[in-house]
Amino acid sequence: MSRAPHRCWIEVSRRQIACNFRAVRELVGTGVELAPVVKADAYRHGAVEVSRILAAEGTRWLAVSNVEEGVALRQAGATARILIMADVLPFELDALLACQLTPVIHSLGHLRELDEASGRPLSNPRKTELAARPFALHYHLKIDSGLGRLGTQSSAATIASAVEGCRHAKLEGLMTHFASAADYTKSQTDEQIRYFNMISDGLRERGIDPPYRHLSGTIPIAYGRRDAWRNMVRPGHAIYGYVSPTRGEHAPPSQLTVAPALQWRTAILDIKHVERGARIGYGGTFQAKQPMRIGVLAAGYADGIPHSLSNKGHVIAAEKLVPIVGAISMDLTTIDLTSVPQLGPGDAVTLLGREGEASQDAQQMARAAGSISYSLLCGISARVHRVYLD
Ligand SMILES: *Cc1c(COP(=O)(O)O)cnc(C)c1O
Repeated sequence: MSRAPHRCWIEVSRRQIACNFRAVRELVGTGVELAPVVKADAYRHGAVEVSRILAAEGTRWLAVSNVEEGVALRQAGATARILIMADVLPFELDALLACQLTPVIHSLGHLRELDEASGRPLSNPRKTELAARPFALHYHLKIDSGLGRLGTQSSAATIASAVEGCRHAKLEGLMTHFASAADYTKSQTDEQIRYFNMISDGLRERGIDPPYRHLSGTIPIAYGRRDAWRNMVRPGHAIYGYVSPTRGEHAPPSQLTVAPALQWRTAILDIKHVERGARIGYGGTFQAKQPMRIGVLAAGYADGIPHSLSNKGHVIAAEKLVPIVGAISMDLTTIDLTSVPQLGPGDAVTLLGREGEASQDAQQMARAAGSISYSLLCGISARVHRVYLD
């Protein structure tokens, strides 16, 4: 492995993000709109940069969690529609309207407030490129079909009268989110689809027929649950190259071919030769059984290496998986380099990615940490440099 240009950094492949987006588009076909999810700084791949890649691929929508994330994309020049998925608080309304973001509404009470707010002039108009355009506030309404988190549980009749009662805001999409899409041992996803369809049909019977209906993130896309695609999907994990495994004997295979777009590397700061019996790190939780060559890495849990990988995880050093020894500390991690004499201070090792035949992805590292790939990726901290490769 080469010399390290930073203490700790990720390399994001623009080409791979674009390939993953195209793979999703090809699988769902042209009748289905894509709203790729770039929340949480694009699962730490960098929301601005990832949004630019997706815009170049022709995406008309982006989805984020909150208004602040949407504003940041607008300020960076994003012109796609931006869906705000995790609710809007009163103090965020002006920014939502000024930046022409599209909220997901989760309760009929909020819908009334939003409708009133969108009829008022902005108290603090921001100068954005879009502010000059004529604009009617469109919203998507989330149905709680069984996840038991955000979303209205009201009947179709109650929803219909709230939607019809709006003077300014227009219903553009109906959506829901699944609780256990990968679990084919349960019928929960089918029940959620049935409930969503019942509400959707009930609204249509009352003359409410919004342009978009969407239920699916990566898992129902990848495993081909076509009755959950409708005419829009919200892929997140897939854009970054991941599809979670299913549960259940009768689960279908994934139809989506994507690959991780991110490699995570760090520098060796120092090498330490220790004798048999020496203890390593906080708490002395590791004790050498023979003389060892220990590498001290320039990254710890403050960079996002899960503390639970103490004495458990692996990193790739000179194309070989080597164990983490001792406790992960805030800024440093110790590894066993006894079998890798060729690496020394200033050389790089790989936390996530590939070197020759050796590879480790976020699902493998997360499994060792007792966590999930989503959490591991989102945990890569702001202090880790980001490098973009073509
Ligand atoms: C995060 C999120 C997604 C994306 O899910 P993935 O499994 O990463 O594809 C889709 N929809 C909603 C509502 C989300 O919050």
